[in-house]
This record gives sequence, structure tokens and C-alpha cells, in this order.
Amino acid sequence: MKRLLLIVSLIACLAAAGCTTPIGTGAGHPVSATPAPQPWYTLNESIRPGDDFYTHVNDAWQRENPIPADKKYVGTLTLLRDKADEDLHALMSRAANATVTTTDRNTALIGQFYRSGMDTQAIDAEGLETLSADLAAIDAIGSREDLANVTVVLLERGATPLYFYLGEVNTRNTTEVIATLWQGGLGMPDRDYYTRTDNKSVATQEAYQDHIRKVLVLSGESGAQAAADAKTIYAMEKTLALGQFTNEENRDPQRTTNVYTLAELKERWPSIGWDRLTSIPGSGQVTKVNVYQPKYLDTLEKEISTAPLADWKLYLRYRLIDETSPYLGASFEEEHFAFYDRTLNGVTEMLPRWKRVVHTGDSQLGDLVGKQYVAEYVDPRTHGMVTGMFQTIRQTFDARMGNLTWMGSATKERAREKLAAMRQKIAYPDTWMDYAGLELTGSYSGNVRAASAYNLIHGPYGLGRIGRPVDPDVWFMSPQTVNAYYNPSTNEIVFPAAILQPPFFDPDADAARNYGALGAVVAHEMTHGFDDQGRQYDKDGNLADWWTEEDRAQFTGRTALLVSEYNQFEVLPGLPLNGNLTLGENIADLGGVTIAYHAWRSAAGPASDPVNEREFFYAYAQVWRENAREEAERNWVYTDPHSASKYRVNGVVFNIPEFYETFPEIQPGDALYRNESERAVIW
Ligand SMILES: [Zn+2]
Repeated sequence: MKRLLLIVSLIACLAAAGCTTPIGTGAGHPVSATPAPQPWYTLNESIRPGDDFYTHVNDAWQRENPIPADKKYVGTLTLLRDKADEDLHALMSRAANATVTTTDRNTALIGQFYRSGMDTQAIDAEGLETLSADLAAIDAIGSREDLANVTVVLLERGATPLYFYLGEVNTRNTTEVIATLWQGGLGMPDRDYYTRTDNKSVATQEAYQDHIRKVLVLSGESGAQAAADAKTIYAMEKTLALGQFTNEENRDPQRTTNVYTLAELKERWPSIGWDRLTSIPGSGQVTKVNVYQPKYLDTLEKEISTAPLADWKLYLRYRLIDETSPYLGASFEEEHFAFYDRTLNGVTEMLPRWKRVVHTGDSQLGDLVGKQYVAEYVDPRTHGMVTGMFQTIRQTFDARMGNLTWMGSATKERAREKLAAMRQKIAYPDTWMDYAGLELTGSYSGNVRAASAYNLIHGPYGLGRIGRPVDPDVWFMSPQTVNAYYNPSTNEIVFPAAILQPPFFDPDADAARNYGALGAVVAHEMTHGFDDQGRQYDKDGNLADWWTEEDRAQFTGRTALLVSEYNQFEVLPGLPLNGNLTLGENIADLGGVTIAYHAWRSAAGPASDPVNEREFFYAYAQVWRENAREEAERNWVYTDPHSASKYRVNGVVFNIPEFYETFPEIQPGDALYRNESERAVIW
């Protein structure tokens, strides 16, 4: 959960799937190296490409692929993930059936985890037993100091009651790992869920309060008591929410980089319990902390030192139980599903049990599962097969930078240096977490918490890394994840094995198709190094301004055009995209398709007749084919830095001159046609 959240903050990934899980309900996104069934596209000629290119390409597929009852959406990513789930299922059930004495430790751990997750009888019988020590500690809180300390105890035992606390590269000095603190403590996706006043949002707020009440009843409170306590807890969450940064504010690295020494922290926010927090067993020595949202600590300071302890106990107890609910007995799990999946995302049925356990195992034991997955399902030639494509794309990007007319030579030189220094990681890591010291038992929720606590110290964002040199081999996604990312603080692009397969990449497909699909993804991630956030970091990942005044103004002017373009796209009636929240992704999408197109041309030779070479754009459009539930779309518009899939296609191609050359039937008067002066030109 923690790593997923942080991916939202700093790391820019290709898609929200496997990336954003602010409420702790998600999991990894595994996939198989065995190609999933590959329906290519059937164009709908009755929808003119100039009116809606996305639907022109994807309409037939959309008609044939309704959303399954247990999903919030269906698309390329979910289909790849389904196949991977089956492979991971096979891998985990085999481990579960292996004789303990004849298996290696890794297999034994996977087997033990999976068995515990499938033993619903034991899970139901266990009730809240796994939380009993923590609930007793909450009960025993007798002072403000106790309160602060217990929040840390919960944190080190695998929960995240008030904030996220991790080890991360210091973006003021990228040779070191320091402690970082990110706002938390909410049961709904973000602060704005507590403050919106439209009817839908008010209904969600009411449904959430009802959810709190039901969880309290399940945990043993009387109906009347639970109703009163739910009001108290909701009010506390709302107070914390008001102190938080918005999603847009969280995109500004200058605002979210605030490194304090311990002395400064203690002086400014004395009630947080810094001594206890910085001495979590297994943590490296903490001398400073980056506080992403200082305003949130102002609120927390005030609440910890003034809100009634009795209210705090209610709040902590609820937060702990709610966070653990997906791994508790059926009634808790069903209530968790009812709010987080049904109400927030419109899903009508739970995933089958085995899938839920596979997803949890994948997210908690990513490297353990990943190592076996790679050995079994990933073609060892994958790395070599795509490397040439990566090279061509990088060279093309470099050449385009050199030719930009809007950028001066000094900034160009720095940009090209940064691109040359960008590292790439392909398919799977060279080194794996070994999970030494992780002890699992027969208790499912106990195992999830143990793995989560283990990751707090030893994971990619582990506190054990603080004070040590930065490890260049760390991956923040497992190889079985259908996604990719750019990490600005290490200036690297990362492509897990699971995305290096059809329909993204097929060694037997022609270049147009591979460049239109995977090529656009590769160039998308490279462009993140030069989007409105990424451009603020230098080639070594430090937050450092390498732009001239003039070039900065040029860049901002060009991106403003994208902001206003996307602000005009309406995802649902009355619900437009947020052009500022999605700006970084939209820049990356535009750069991605543009650069991939030219890389393809340089690999395939100049087009003799562009009209006969439409595959590139079709390949790009079909990657984003999707059917999604309205509730999920709404949730994404509010929280996801990526634009809705339709606009990842329509918002991009109509800015690209070569798109018009390839589709000369698109003419002024068509719904999405843009005059040259209205087309955004950045990279
Ligand atoms: Zn992206």
C-alpha cells in the first residue's frame, strides 16, 4: 500500500492501474509472458476518424467486451492482468501444495501465504484476534504522549493510521536516502471527497459514514453507539482532510520538498512523537525528514494536542480495523467491498477468492512471487528484443531536442545531457529482495501485516535504506506488473516484463504496430523526464533549475494550451477532465506518440504513402480501448493524474501534424480537427 501511494507522489507511471491505491484496496498487476488472446481492431466506418478517432478504432471491441461484474473496467491492462492472475494462481497453488520439507524457503513462504488466504474457515474463526494487541494498546492510551507513540506502534506493525513514513532518495542531494512523511489518515480517496457539495458527493459522504457505522457494529458496538461514534470519526477525518494538500498541489515538487532536521521538526511539531518515530527498529539513523505537506502536520499537531483522547481512540480503532478488513472474515470483507468497490467504483460482484488472495500476495510479496514468475513465464530473450527499439527512440528524442525551434541552445544542451544520462531498466531486476527474517503463520491477516511491516523496513522504500548509499538496482514495480514508470529522483525509466508482450510488443508484428503501442509507452516514460514536473530535476535527479528564463516561459506557454484543451473534454455530463491535474501525463502522451512516430519512421524508412501506413496510429489507439463504469470514471477524474482513455487518444493525435498526413480525410469542420495554431507542440 505504501509503495503504491508513493508512486502517486513522485514516480510517474503509465496508468493508474497498479499505481494509485490511496485507500489500500489495490494490488499488483501481474501478467504472463504467454500472449493473451489478441483481437486486433475492426474499424467502425460509420464513426468518422476526425470526429472521434478513439471510437472509430475501438467501437467494435467495446461492443464485444462488456465490463465483467467483478471489475470496474475492462481494457488492455485488465486482460493482460487476467492472464497473469492465472499464472500466479498456478504458481501459488503449486507452492501451497508442495511438501514443506522438500521445498526451498521462498516457495514455502509463498505456499504458506496462499494457504492462509484460502482458509476461510480459519479466517472467520479468528475474528479480530490478529489485532488484539494493537486494540489493547489503543485502549490503554492515557496521555498525549501515549497517543503519538501508539500511532508509531501501529505503523511499525504494518498499518498506516495517520501518515505514510518511508525511506526515499533526497531530491536536494540524490546521493542519500532520507526519511519522508506523506499525509494520510483518510478512509476516502482524498481530501476533496470530504468537501465537495454536489449531490453525488454528498451521497458518497453519507455512504461512507454509514460504512464506518457498519464496521463498528461488526467489531462489536451496539447500533446506537456505532451511529454516534461514526459521526465522531467522520468529523475527525474531515478535520484531517482539510489540512491536506490537493492532488494538484501534490504535483508541485517545490511545494512538497521540505527537508527539516530533527531539531526543527521537534520545535515546529512537538506532539508528533519524533523520538519514537525515528527509532523504529530496523530503521537507519534518521537525521532529517522530508515533510511533503507541512500544512498537514500543522493540523495533526493541533489535533494530537487538543482533540479528546476518547475520540482519538475511536478513530485509531476504526482505522486499524477498516484497513485490515479485506483480510478479515467474510462480514468485514463484504462490508469493505460494499463501500470501496460497489459505492466508489460501481463494481457489483467480488473477485473470486483465489484472485483476491493472489493480488494480495502479489502486492505484499512482490519480489518473492516475481522471481519465480520470471523464471517460469518470462522469455529470457525479451530484454534483447526490445533494446534496439529503446535505442532508436532515445536517438530520435535526442535529435528532436536538437532541432527544437522554441528552445535556446544552453537549455537544449542540458536537456540532451539529461536524456543521455537517463537509465533504463527492462523486464526484471538483477537482484531480488530475499525476505530473510520474514516469519509467516497460519493467520492470513497476520501474514499480510507481517509482510507489510517487513516491507516498511526492507522494501523498495524501506526505512532500513535510510543513511545508506542509494541502491541503483531497486525496482518500484514487480516484473509481473502491467505498467511502466519514470522516476525523477533517479532519472530512470522502468519497464516490467509484463508490459513487454502483446498487444504492446510482439516480436512477430511489424514495426508500425510495435512502435505505435510499446514505442509510445517507452517515449511516454522518457518524456516524463521533461514534463512540467520532471523538467524541474537535473540529470542526477536533484531538484535544480537548468532552464533559462526565456525557455521556461516558452515551455509554460505551450503547456498552457494543453491545459485548456483537456479542461474542455467532458468525461461524464458536467464532469470535465482537470487539465492541471493531468498535465504531466498529457505532456508525456503527446511526446510519447510524437517521438515514437518519428522513431518508427527512422527505423522503417520514410513513408512512400502515409495513407497506406495507418497501423501506427491504430496500434496506439487500440492500446487504450476500454469500457469503464461511471462510478470509476468519476473517481478517476477526481484523483487520477492520467486522462480518461478516450482522451489519451483523441487529446493527443489531433495535435500531431503527421496524423493529418496519414488521415487526409480529416478536415476543418470535423469535431476534433485543430488548426495548426491550436496544436500543442512541445517535444
Ligand atoms: Zn505517465
